Amino acid sequence: MSLGGELWHSTTEWEYAGTSTRISSSPTNTTCMTGPDGGLLKCSVFPFGVGELLLYTPTPKENQQNHTANMDISRIIKPWKPNSQRNLVFVNATIVDPAEGKLIPNATVRIAEGKIIQIVTDGSTTITDDVPEENVIDLDGKYLCPGLIDCHVHIAVVPGESSLQAYSDMSDAVSLLRQPYLLKSMLDRGFTTIRDCGGAGLAIKEAVVDGVIPGPRVFIAGHALSQTGGHGDLRGSHNSQQCCGGSVSGISRVVDGPAECYKYAREELRQGADFIKIMGGGGVASPTDRIEHVQFSDEEIKAIVTVARNAGTYVTSHSYTPQAIQQAIKLGVRGIEHGNLVDLETAKMMAEMDVFLTPTLITHVMFQQMKFLSDDSAAKNEEVLKKGLETLKMAVDAGVTVCFGTDLLGPMHFAQSKEFSVRNSVLTPLQILRSATVNAARLLMQENMLGQVNEGFAADLLILKQNPLEDITILDQVEDHILAVIKDGRVATSRWDKFKVDV
Ligand SMILES: [Zn+2]
Repeated sequence: MSLGGELWHSTTEWEYAGTSTRISSSPTNTTCMTGPDGGLLKCSVFPFGVGELLLYTPTPKENQQNHTANMDISRIIKPWKPNSQRNLVFVNATIVDPAEGKLIPNATVRIAEGKIIQIVTDGSTTITDDVPEENVIDLDGKYLCPGLIDCHVHIAVVPGESSLQAYSDMSDAVSLLRQPYLLKSMLDRGFTTIRDCGGAGLAIKEAVVDGVIPGPRVFIAGHALSQTGGHGDLRGSHNSQQCCGGSVSGISRVVDGPAECYKYAREELRQGADFIKIMGGGGVASPTDRIEHVQFSDEEIKAIVTVARNAGTYVTSHSYTPQAIQQAIKLGVRGIEHGNLVDLETAKMMAEMDVFLTPTLITHVMFQQMKFLSDDSAAKNEEVLKKGLETLKMAVDAGVTVCFGTDLLGPMHFAQSKEFSVRNSVLTPLQILRSATVNAARLLMQENMLGQVNEGFAADLLILKQNPLEDITILDQVEDHILAVIKDGRVATSRWDKFKVDV
């Protein structure tokens, strides 16, 4: 019987301290113990002199008293913890390599402990020898693609309401209770990683890491930082209520002046932000600013960039216009969100400075189709949508590293994968796949872990029926083309009877 686990060891030893006997025998650091009524506790070897008791045979009397006997203590504390992983081996896989822009046929890919541990491409399948037959899956030439990364989402603006107004009255609790639904639906669509650009908190991120709920791995900004009257300030012009520095406004926090910028950037990082998001210019859905506004002063942006850099991370800015983009990147901002109105000069500058661009075109399409905006906002939306596709192509041609983003709010989330089809009208399938894999991984500073089917990388994988490098819009036809979604080495979603979902 195995009763591994530090907690068991320490509590049990304490409980039995009065009656147990510890025998130490050098030189092997072997420790043996006897139980309260003479039951045998087997010997363990502690390489460093202390450690956990691995094997223990309790007497029948102890068994009656000890309700945790035969149980893994870590699963008592966290009963939702999934079972240990199956080690899977895929044979006859066609690996999709977005970094090199090629396919690797006849591959055998072995995954264990959440990682890709071995890839064999010479046709040999010897690495399957020690894996049970049911864990060896013949992909029959089907495509093994890296899991997708959406670099601009807002999971706190959950589905369930039909107007944007309803979200300003929604409590955090209502939003939080709906977020697991949203995360699972993103995973089902093939997104194994998301970057939340405002609104998501540490609790939901940790719930996914801990296995309480299924979902993509989540990188968060906490609250986006906005100036008074900026894109993140939800108060209308007739609302004269003063808000104090740092107060939360929907998915944002309103801050003014370098002092508040220092303080609340640090506050977001303290509360678990992986990076800092600023509202560096006007936006579509905000009531009192215009799209051409530049927001925040140089001093304010400099303060926020300093805080992020000191913490080993970066700032990304919501910016549409060349003026807003140039101001941000000259001050050290590393990412630009949306960027629909960027011009050639600014795009070249971005390429030179290795600044990432994350366009989010589908949100403008859906705003239009769902009539989700006021008349004022709808006019702003139309302008940025028209320019968005043109400038996306221009930016890619200028050498800017472009990432995949969606920025969908409320009931529009269902359209997440349609961004692939929208981009397809101006970019090649490889350019688009890179934006959702290798480019996105670099933006997240996870380029050695995410975005590729490579040894040592996380086993975040999609099984596809067709080649996405030939037709990227298959990723928008989820039910027909994504046969399985694997995250951290576990089958999270299956539409193929060869794959059983791991729970
Ligand atoms: Zn956004």
